[in-house]
Amino acid sequence: MSSEPIAVAPRGALLTGLRPTGSLTLANVVGAVQPILRLQATAALPILLFVADLHALTDTEPQVVAQQAQSTVRDLIALGIDTTRVHVYVQSALTHEVNELAGILAREVRVSELMRQPSLKEKLKSGQQPENATAALLMYPVLMAADILLHRAARVPVGQDQLAHLELARLMARRFNADYGATLVEPQPLQEDALRILALRGDAKMSKSDPDTALLLSDTDAAIERKIATCQTAPEGESSPHLESHARLIEALDAASVSVLRRLLAAHRAGEKVMADFKRLFANVAKQFIGAVRARRIALTEGEVDAVLRAGTAFAQHSAAQTLDDVRAALGLRIVVSNALEVDL
Ligand code: AMP
Repeated sequence: MSSEPIAVAPRGALLTGLRPTGSLTLANVVGAVQPILRLQATAALPILLFVADLHALTDTEPQVVAQQAQSTVRDLIALGIDTTRVHVYVQSALTHEVNELAGILAREVRVSELMRQPSLKEKLKSGQQPENATAALLMYPVLMAADILLHRAARVPVGQDQLAHLELARLMARRFNADYGATLVEPQPLQEDALRILALRGDAKMSKSDPDTALLLSDTDAAIERKIATCQTAPEGESSPHLESHARLIEALDAASVSVLRRLLAAHRAGEKVMADFKRLFANVAKQFIGAVRARRIALTEGEVDAVLRAGTAFAQHSAAQTLDDVRAALGLRIVVSNALEVDL
């Protein structure tokens, strides 16, 4: 394997994916969707946004995933994705393409490297064992690398939790290029200071897998109030990772509330008892944001959602086919079945 620096292939895209394992959280919104909303009007690169249903199968039953995938697409449109500029698709519409590339990329990564990924280590720490953890969990970063490299994505808006996976995708692309010539693009995170929004309580990140400590786009006003009433803050005069994380969320969801937020935080630092006001602001901002998404979502017709997916899928399949053609050519994948018949794999 040569260690020569390799020029990257000359195409690029911006791409991100969200797993339909449950309703999107507000952390998904600010970590992965808002960067696209900010860029969609001006980005020179094509933007792809996909619902990662194949990834969701790693730990969620297929029927749940299928139902939730449609709902996630609706959420994305309701969040303000401009579907004339952003190509929205469901990952399984590219099952063959993604899995073909994943199989090729699996040759470029070692089992020990996959076993070192933090998300797997976390799962192994929280009860799963190599004896009962599935190979799908081990292969997760390879499938994710295939999603990204398939479209030669140069920039990937992700939260902090995905940075290690992205690094593995870069490694696979680099090794493939070193072995077979400059074909794949090494993806970069969109923001180096990727966000990590904490759960409302406890040490974990906010996640769909613990809906009681997460704010979900499917939450009712009453659920939002109940969850925020018991969120962790900080004693007067002190800061805490939770208080900072909640403040980042408020700021990201409602720019108009920033001055009130700053005043409250300054009073808190000065030792005043304002955490009840802080929670009231937090709940109002979350209710207003989620309520507006809910209203837009209800107004969407099935026909509109189908049209978005048809157009997005066609773009994604075309983009994937181009990359796979180049990958197969770089590998020289050609089987001579008989003297008369040559088949491109
Ligand atoms: P997932 O819910 O794991 O499919 O993640 C979808 C996207 O949301 C990925 O880009 C994640 O990095 C991002 N994300 C998930 N949870 C968080 C969080 N707690 N804070 C910031 N970003 C997040």
